[in-house]
Amino acid sequence: MKVNNVDLTISAVRPEQYPEQGYPEIALSGRSNVGKSSLINTLINRRNYARTSSQPGKTQTLNFYNLEDELYFVDVPGYGYAKVSQKEREKWARMLETYFEQRTALRGVVSLVDARHEPTVLDQQMIEFLHYYNLPILVVGTKVDKIAKNKRNRAESIIRKTLNLNKEDKVILFSAVDKTGREEIWNWIDQVKTF
Ligand code: GDP
Repeated sequence: MKVNNVDLTISAVRPEQYPEQGYPEIALSGRSNVGKSSLINTLINRRNYARTSSQPGKTQTLNFYNLEDELYFVDVPGYGYAKVSQKEREKWARMLETYFEQRTALRGVVSLVDARHEPTVLDQQMIEFLHYYNLPILVVGTKVDKIAKNKRNRAESIIRKTLNLNKEDKVILFSAVDKTGREEIWNWIDQVKTF
């Protein structure tokens, strides 16, 4: 998909705040600092569209980006802040549960992990959660420019194994620096958005 027009349509917490147009949606999730804003900006060819590294303590919302009146990217707030209170964490979990459970426009989830390290327990829990809702999953291993080419297959196997991925789940290694994986990610999105 070629993207010229992007709008941050709405930041939502509750279902009545979700946009009503009914375009297919692709959600993007990952812990803070994993490179989610960089991925979104690379996909839509912008330098600075998605906010980078939203700070802990800021309001946690689902951000819906309208692409060409055809598709929404839904930026799911990051997880894994050590400093967030139990209460905040529960609020966040409830917001995600509601979204993943109720949103019929949702076609698939891009779940980001840092390809340089073994996925964390929180990354594993996110995938378990997505498996539970039977959602098509693309795991994007970020910052792959930092991994030597001959070590990339191994990084991908570690991601597959640690996250307990199914055969249908796809893994793509990505770099916002040299754009490795960009086309492949778009191909996956273009394919699942039509279901
Ligand atoms: P977010 O918090 O998940 O939205 O993460 P950001 O996109 O703000 O990225 C967090 C940090 O990782 C920033 O310092 C980025 O410059 C860096 N980063 C993001 N993507 C890449 C990448 O593909 N390669 C490298 N080397 N650094 C990256």
